[in-house]
Amino acid sequence: MKNKINVNKKDFYFEKTPDGGNLFSISKEIFCRKTKYQLIEIIENPNFGKILFLDNIIQSASKDEFIYHETIVHPAMINHPAPKKVLVIGGGDGYIIREILKHKSVKEINLVDIDEESVKTCDKFLHQEFKLLASPKTKVIFEDGLLFLSKNKKKFDVIIMDLPGIEENSSAEPAYSSKCFKLAFESLKTKGVISVQGEDISFLRRTGNLKIYANVVKYFPFVKSILYSCPSFNATCSVILACKNHDPEKLSKKKAEKRIKRISEKLNYFSYNMYYALFSNIPKYLEKDYKKNFEEKNELLEKNYINPFVYGKKSSIKGNGLYAKTKIKKGTLIVEWGGKTIPIKEWKKLPEKIREYQIQLNSKNFFGITRESEIDEAEFINHSCNPNCGIKEYTKVVALRDIFPEEELTYDYIMTDFFDGYLKCLCGEKNCRRALYPNDYKKAFLQKKTKVFFQNLINRKITNSTKKKPTN
Ligand SMILES: [Zn+2]
Repeated sequence: MKNKINVNKKDFYFEKTPDGGNLFSISKEIFCRKTKYQLIEIIENPNFGKILFLDNIIQSASKDEFIYHETIVHPAMINHPAPKKVLVIGGGDGYIIREILKHKSVKEINLVDIDEESVKTCDKFLHQEFKLLASPKTKVIFEDGLLFLSKNKKKFDVIIMDLPGIEENSSAEPAYSSKCFKLAFESLKTKGVISVQGEDISFLRRTGNLKIYANVVKYFPFVKSILYSCPSFNATCSVILACKNHDPEKLSKKKAEKRIKRISEKLNYFSYNMYYALFSNIPKYLEKDYKKNFEEKNELLEKNYINPFVYGKKSSIKGNGLYAKTKIKKGTLIVEWGGKTIPIKEWKKLPEKIREYQIQLNSKNFFGITRESEIDEAEFINHSCNPNCGIKEYTKVVALRDIFPEEELTYDYIMTDFFDGYLKCLCGEKNCRRALYPNDYKKAFLQKKTKVFFQNLINRKITNSTKKKPTN
């Protein structure tokens, strides 16, 4: 055993942490081997049972692992009406699979773990009652999680990421990257949910959590940290839960209750009464961090970006418009608006002509160009009631379908705007609404049509407006 130390003639396992370390007395040494990817160590502790360490970081203890595994699996699963296909990245110790299989709707699980030897070792030594590699619904893929996602063509209902610490240069670091969450977002169906091991959120050790949260919030409109306490981890632990189309905190009580009941086997930690409480004990310092983080880490551009294959000219709809020079594929980024984040108070003082080009980010701030000299072709894009573009995140205009040369590029202004009064529409489309109203986003048929192509704030508003009757 590599990390064994002797104190007062007794053997202990020493888990090194940034502020010292944790000691676990060893009643039995079960396994120790360095694979191609990591050091695997398993010990028996008189209190915690069998403890698994990967690269000297505790992963699970057999006597209290259910606390972590029920928390990372069930809140995510009950946020989906009927999860059928689930992707697990990491989680080679198999406990997550055991929890997922308690949901009878599940038809297929893909488990992606880089280390075949570690999966086999856990199956052999950790659990007797459950064998991951013998689970008929589970396909185990020995590959790097990020690599898997970058090649993946399947769509999942739920993704669970269970990886060891986010420390710099750790093998798990790339899987916590912004690129990874972008790919995960794209690999999820419209009602998709993701649950991520969210690290320690205690006051002095919260940098890992902030880093993961910042990367998740870039792509997912609804992100929550949920806290739990697992004695063997000796930390204030968290799971980051994010949904594509609804706020998990606002899941109706009826649905939560019904969906928890569909879990076939009894749970030992998670319950209906606990679900809503999971969101309510976030420390104030963390709330402040998240807010700050959101504004800084959304990486909003300083200047407009315009795809080189589009150009501006006089529009057949109104004023100037933006047109395709060549064929443009669905999903292509057309424009990304840049500018400055400004508080509402300052926004009110801007000339009306400039205010038109601003997007509301949240209840306190607007974003966009602040001077007339900054108006360029990126601002030419017109409204249409039958748009060929939509909005991603806050400021990105992307093609909703393939666009032909010389077609005018348009999006539906209700995807970004909360204008006063109404705007007359001259788009001339068959389905033209003639006038656009600020509350149009509440109309169900528009939400359906534009799916996730509302900017994030509008997505939040949609959820708030359907508070009493959630649509998920
Ligand atoms: Zn119209």
